[in-house]
Amino acid sequence: MPRMMRLRRRDIVCQQAVELVTSYLEGALARSQRRRFEAHLAGCPHCTEYLAQMRTTIELAGRITPEDLTPQMQDEFIALYRRWQSEGGDGH
Ligand SMILES: [Zn+2]
Repeated sequence: MPRMMRLRRRDIVCQQAVELVTSYLEGALARSQRRRFEAHLAGCPHCTEYLAQMRTTIELAGRITPEDLTPQMQDEFIALYRRWQSEGGDGH
């Protein structure tokens, strides 16, 4: 069975999805961006989880402030994702 994970040229990658999460939650994405973002989430459990965590954070914090969403958080997620990749898809 063909896998759905294959990237098409217009698909966004995880790093882009992570960068879009805040705007997505703020409703600030353009429609085409939002569609790509949601399409990515549909095939990416890691970003789905990240979005869920971000939602929780925002619920606890009340709202998004730039101080809450530091580049460090994005870096951490990307590092985490790289680890998932190397654990899951490493065939050598
Ligand atoms: Zn992703």
